[in-house]
Amino acid sequence: MNIDRKLLVDNQTLFISFVVPIYNEAVNIKDFIKALTQSANKLSKYYEIVIINDGSTDNSLAVIETELLPDSHIKLISFSRNFGKEIALTAGLHHCRGQIAILIDADFQHPLASIPEFIERWTEDYDMVYGLRDNRSQETFLKRFFARIFYKTLGFLSDTKIPADAGDFRLLDRKVVDAINSCKEYNRFMKGLYAWVGFKATAVIYPVLERQGGKTSFSFLKLAELALTGIFSFSDMPLRVWSLIGILISGISLLYALVIVFDTLCFGVDVPGFATITVAIMFFGGIQLISIGILGEYIARIFREVKNRPKYIIDKTHGFENE
Ligand code: UDP
Ligand code: MG
Repeated sequence: MNIDRKLLVDNQTLFISFVVPIYNEAVNIKDFIKALTQSANKLSKYYEIVIINDGSTDNSLAVIETELLPDSHIKLISFSRNFGKEIALTAGLHHCRGQIAILIDADFQHPLASIPEFIERWTEDYDMVYGLRDNRSQETFLKRFFARIFYKTLGFLSDTKIPADAGDFRLLDRKVVDAINSCKEYNRFMKGLYAWVGFKATAVIYPVLERQGGKTSFSFLKLAELALTGIFSFSDMPLRVWSLIGILISGISLLYALVIVFDTLCFGVDVPGFATITVAIMFFGGIQLISIGILGEYIARIFREVKNRPKYIIDKTHGFENE
């Protein structure tokens, strides 16, 4: 138990930042922010809701500006185009000022009712509290299957232990927010960064709800791209494993060469062998292309990194004036 934290919560003087990334959520955003405001009012006298409009192409921005911004708790960062959820969260964490930050989706899939439990864990001296989905049964079989393979592969390849099934529904202490903000990389895989910065973390199990309106913006391809970013940003094993494979194949080739020499000396020259040669050439061609491809993945990411472009471009902000 952390007495200082408990006092802040009991006196309702804890400054909470809610970070809400939105992309084409016009149907949800108004109801969601209203509901979030109600929950927030019960929790503290001081809070801010930082909405990041990630280049929505529907009228989300108009809804926010006309219906929500008059409330002084609500702040807005509006991107010039869609930069993706990871970057939207990054911008939210850069701009929020709270003693804790709570990251939450705007589609009602993350239950507001679980927030007090997150805060309770924080008063027990945990610096990061992550939501664990109680089940993934509304997701398609394929998505669950690939998610499992992804987390298994990542767990095997990476030294950073990234909890499976923990999403972006999280509470972060100011220390954690500052630590994540100090990670400057361009290829961002937030779930990896949360784990990489360390600190005392615990889980809260929450029921995933149905999306209330609109549809998910994560296609299979987008998820696959995110999974690759996760693997290539948090492991250098795919890069290094080729030396091992190379040594192994060279060893086998040497042995095979000895066998051929022995065979020729004892039994004379045996001309057939066309199939063996073809298969061997194709096999090694394949291996070489795969290894070059993997090198390419890392080089492409290094290329993006060294250009050192800003991670996002802000079109306009609201509510941050007096900073
Ligand atoms: N989102 C975003 N930028 C994107 C895609 C999604 O800010 O490019 C937001 C979206 O508005 C929602 C949250 O991220 O608040 C989760 O997105 P979604 O519900 O589409 O993902 P899922 O729940 O299916 O993983
Ligand atoms: Mg969702």
